[in-house]
Amino acid sequence: MPELPEVETVRRTLSQLITGKQIDRVTVSLPRILQKPDDPLVFAAQLEGRTFQSVERRGKFLRLVMDGLVLVSHLRMEGRYGLFDSETLPEKHTHVIFHFTDGTELRYKDVRQFGTMHLFMPGEELQAPPLNKLGLEPLEEGFTLEVFRRALGKRSTKIKPLLLNQEVVVGLGNIYVDEALHMAGIHPETSANELKRKEQELLHLAIVETLSAAVEAGGSSIKSYVNGQGEMGLFQHSLKAYGRTGEPCLNCGNLIEKSVVGGRGTHICPKCQKQPHNNISKSDSNSMNTLKQRNNKVKDRLDGLDN
Ligand SMILES: [Zn+2]
Repeated sequence: MPELPEVETVRRTLSQLITGKQIDRVTVSLPRILQKPDDPLVFAAQLEGRTFQSVERRGKFLRLVMDGLVLVSHLRMEGRYGLFDSETLPEKHTHVIFHFTDGTELRYKDVRQFGTMHLFMPGEELQAPPLNKLGLEPLEEGFTLEVFRRALGKRSTKIKPLLLNQEVVVGLGNIYVDEALHMAGIHPETSANELKRKEQELLHLAIVETLSAAVEAGGSSIKSYVNGQGEMGLFQHSLKAYGRTGEPCLNCGNLIEKSVVGGRGTHICPKCQKQPHNNISKSDSNSMNTLKQRNNKVKDRLDGLDN
């Protein structure tokens, strides 16, 4: 699934391709992509005659801003946009086509069909699902260490699933969470409320640095991701943890291990990212208690024999 750097790359490309173009008509061949309105005829009618003014991003969502209307688009697994001449035959799995008055077409292709589109009046899109519950934008100026600390709050969720759920900070998926936690030297199973102040600071820095570097490289091309112009990103060559199972950690030389955290494949260096102490001591004290109980039972029985 494209994460912030990939969606940001698509946003930049798309912005150059479609800004100023006016929609003549829209054709939809797979209505399930449309969430609001879900009727393809209503959807198309609302878009007719509109002009694209800019392309913005909120988390992993694209916001295609027109005069009087905003299209919120999520690419999910494999959604892609491309600009074509109307003479070019549409590729297989092209589900939505925005026909422009200048004879070009913006085409949305989605092999897996998980992508979504919502239409809103400008401003309304931020107050309603799917955008209304999203957390902080990590590459905006407002994402300071203090704001991040406050957002983490007293949550006891493990840090990896917490970063994945988009409520504290947006844009991180499986790749960049693994990268940021590796850079910060934090084990993905550490509870958010047990991060030390120094660790919060390192994590804040790692999130900003990882995402900025990836945006600069045009994102990562893992599996089939390509940006709005069909170009591949280059950040996959800079990954330090994700996808490097069995390869040496670039910090310490220890081998990167793969495990499962919150149902997701997770890559860590066991030396740089130590298992949280609280977990170890908790399980240790549990086994200590079990041992004590067992000893007590044995003692009771022996006592009984004595009597
Ligand atoms: Zn290491």
